[in-house]
Amino acid sequence: MKFGTKAIHAGVKPDPSTGAIMTPIYQTSTYVQKAPGKHQGFEYARTQNPTRNALQESLASIENGRYGVCFSSGLAALDAILKLLKSGDEIISTNDLYGGSYRLITEVFGQFGIGASFIDMSEPANIEKHITAKTKFILIETPTNPMLNIVDIKAVVKVAKKHKLKVVVDNTFASPYLQNPLDLGADIVWHSCTKYLGGHSDVVMGAVITKSKSLADKLYFIQNAAGAVPGPQDCFLMLRGIKTLHLRVQRSCENAKKVAEFLRDHKKVSKVYYPGFKTHKGHAVAKKQMNGFGGMVSFDLKNNKLSSAKKVLSGTKLFALAESLGGVESLIGHPASMTHASIPKADRLKVGLTDSLIRLSIGVEDIGDLIEDLKKALLKL
Ligand SMILES: *Cc1c(COP(=O)(O)O)cnc(C)c1O
Repeated sequence: MKFGTKAIHAGVKPDPSTGAIMTPIYQTSTYVQKAPGKHQGFEYARTQNPTRNALQESLASIENGRYGVCFSSGLAALDAILKLLKSGDEIISTNDLYGGSYRLITEVFGQFGIGASFIDMSEPANIEKHITAKTKFILIETPTNPMLNIVDIKAVVKVAKKHKLKVVVDNTFASPYLQNPLDLGADIVWHSCTKYLGGHSDVVMGAVITKSKSLADKLYFIQNAAGAVPGPQDCFLMLRGIKTLHLRVQRSCENAKKVAEFLRDHKKVSKVYYPGFKTHKGHAVAKKQMNGFGGMVSFDLKNNKLSSAKKVLSGTKLFALAESLGGVESLIGHPASMTHASIPKADRLKVGLTDSLIRLSIGVEDIGDLIEDLKKALLKL
């Protein structure tokens, strides 16, 4: 089956009791047993829920994995992955990792003796010199936020295999429609489903997908043992969102390309970060490992002033000023004061994250209206 068919049908079967075509929201905490130990595969809703099962099957299918495991947020999904490690183990990750992932690794798991190094992964050859006898996982995020850097997943997998390390990929920015890390040799892929998978800015959720039975067994154990499970209503909304993932992401990609081209030609804009441009340093790898260049565009202003960025950020009407991404509506954000405020300014500047950098999550509105909105906001400069 091809992607669009899987997005609509995988995991979803008519409800056995009524034939309802949509998986019902099984809003229950427990299940009645016929006799002690005699049940229908469902005992308690932290452990099993039919709405969640349908979603987990759907997620596994669209990521070309075999097992899907859902969590109550993206970070709860990463938390479960990190619980596969033991005290003394180490991980290697990218130096422009999502801030929340960085915080979880360093401030929470650091306390339990998990070591981590954060390196420039745009050159996979860089990785080898950081590998020690304690290294267990290589954590990739690609494209990254907000600089839209690209990591070559296949090249990292090659290094990892040589040292018997597992590769874990945060696939949130690409979505399973544009990139399938398991096909490129990664062991584990995870998502903040809050973003493209849900797609309507109304659910917070996370998921982990793998092909490995032994990893899946451990993750299901952690899901039940630690208990960060999503509720059935949220699972229903996620299933509904996934049905249009391919359509939404297609339109987002088309719109993002046009917005990026508009910004590149604008006299007040100094730089546009968009992997679809041939001049982007990750373009060739993005073209190779993705089915499109995504719906995210970041840009910088020529006069580099915070005050100018603020004028643009408060000057749009359609682009809403908010954190998050991947919804049907377009958002505008200011990484320096919003998502990346906790990173010291000197470190931010080193990677190009200036005070005037603006990040856009391009939605599925009509492109003419989006460009008109940006045009008017840039006129305020
Ligand atoms: C939002 C996000 C997360 C965290 O997910 P939550 O659902 O907010 O917990 C992780 N990685 C990336 C790339 C994200 O954008």
